[in-house]
Amino acid sequence: MDMKQITMPTRKRIALIAHDNMKQDLLDWTQKNQAILSQHQLYATGTTGHLLENSLNMPITKLISGPLGGDQQIGAMVTEQKIDIIIFFWDPFEPMPHDPDVKALLRVAAVWNVAVACSRSSADFMISSPLLSQQHPYSVPDYEDYLQKRLNKP
Ligand code: PGA
Repeated sequence: MDMKQITMPTRKRIALIAHDNMKQDLLDWTQKNQAILSQHQLYATGTTGHLLENSLNMPITKLISGPLGGDQQIGAMVTEQKIDIIIFFWDPFEPMPHDPDVKALLRVAAVWNVAVACSRSSADFMISSPLLSQQHPYSVPDYEDYLQKRLNKP
């Protein structure tokens, strides 16, 4: 895949998602890191977003609830380079009917080279990275090039 360089903005667009058994953990983590998170733009799936907004008293763009397509909305934003970081506290112990959404979101995040934290520990590393408050050059698929190659396929 040919890649091209783009720049992540200083103010990161951060998506927050937690499965039900993990919601309290994400609430604790966001409260602890509220001062840093307030410098960035936050998005969340529906239920997670409502809980976070109540607990943090901070504006959060709320998408639809995960099982109804919210994870996929975030995935679509990833393909448009509208999300820089995903903090996804998914539940490894409870397979649920919308498990394919988890896989789809993690796949598309890997395709578009988005930073993903799936555990509290990796979220700690990410939130304390010096890159969080800087413009950050990184590479994403060169879609124009990808499309041209597909169109020119014999
Ligand atoms: P929710 O969705 O924030 O609406 O609970 C999260 C999920 O299950 O993906």
